[in-house]
Amino acid sequence: MTNDILVFAEQRDDKIHPGALQAIAPARELAEKTGGAVVAVVIGEATDATASALDATGVSKIITISDPALKHYSTTRYRTALVSAIETLNPRIVLLAATFMGRDLAPRVAVRVKGALATDVTELHWKDGTLEVRRPIYNGKAFGLVQFPSDRVAIASVRANTFAAPSGGSGATRESLPFSAGAGDDRVTTKEIVRTGGAVKDVTEADIIVSGGRSLKSEENFENVIFPLAQALDAAVGASRAACDAGYQPHSRQVGLTGKTVTPKLYIACGISGAIQHLAGMRGSKVIVAINTDKEAPIVKVADYTVPHDLFQVVPALTEEVKKLHA
Ligand SMILES: Cc1cc2nc3c(=O)[nH]c(=O)nc-3n(C[C@H](O)[C@H](O)[C@H](O)COP(=O)(O)OP(=O)(O)OC[C@H]3O[C@@H](n4cnc5c(N)ncnc54)[C@H](O)[C@@H]3O)c2cc1C
Repeated sequence: MTNDILVFAEQRDDKIHPGALQAIAPARELAEKTGGAVVAVVIGEATDATASALDATGVSKIITISDPALKHYSTTRYRTALVSAIETLNPRIVLLAATFMGRDLAPRVAVRVKGALATDVTELHWKDGTLEVRRPIYNGKAFGLVQFPSDRVAIASVRANTFAAPSGGSGATRESLPFSAGAGDDRVTTKEIVRTGGAVKDVTEADIIVSGGRSLKSEENFENVIFPLAQALDAAVGASRAACDAGYQPHSRQVGLTGKTVTPKLYIACGISGAIQHLAGMRGSKVIVAINTDKEAPIVKVADYTVPHDLFQVVPALTEEVKKLHA
């Protein structure tokens, strides 16, 4: 094994996924300790644009695997491609973003390369000649420390919005690897990828999020109460799992342990109790505002500002004030 760290630079529409960019930050810190290099691998039909963007992140080398067969994400083909990059580089550590793609890919790759895997990690340290990571356990109620065996490639998926994306760097070397599909790779074919959530901003990419909970009571109330405030603030709309399970919002907007992790500048929680699983996804927000009739709700303990009133009165009034400020 080399002392290198390989980062899977997940891309969508010729752009690196923010979570994959963020995974480069701990990779750079680890490389200083292992004495190896940070190498990024891009997989897709076209990889040039992403590879150029990666050059500004301080990686030492960029491996590209381009092929028309890799146009859409496919578990089997992408696994084969990533495994070929690992076998070529023989790195000590492989990092992926804990996105839906990373969560799908990491265990399959780990099995193929007989590696050790830890998912959804929030801290990575080089200790006693091996990787040690911190990850949430028991639905986020506790954290566990996982030490990897030193004789196997250590694979970790890194929780999005845990690290800041790195900047600075240029002149990474490039290498392109051929793609050849393995036996059985075509058992499943992805024909089309349809983006859900419409034109509204994704919660993982927004500076401001207005989130609603079960207390919204209906999809219409989200449309009439939450969306206007989000629009006025140029914010994304988020939701608790209870609201998503009730069908008020798609699960693509769910914030929390089993939803998305967010760290916006401002998080406005409207009628959300702040269950531990919800807090796990948003407590890193810079400023938290809780609009909740219950002054004892757990969200109040993490909130910077609390408005202890009925959201159906507060949110429309707030929307009007924001509109006045913009006028
Ligand atoms: C394994 C597991 C994973 C989970 N993952 C997630 C996750 O990823 N994300 C997540 O959100 N949850 C998750 N949950 C569910 C979580 O435990 C809670 O059940 C859920 O977050 C509650 O959603 P809520 O806050 O919308 O609803 P509730 O807990 O019912 O809270 C509603 C809140 O609204 C307030 N309220 C009511 N009416 C008004 C009003 N008119 N004005 C203002 N305030 C009002 C109430 O005081 C209350 O605090 C998970 C649970 C499990 C077991």
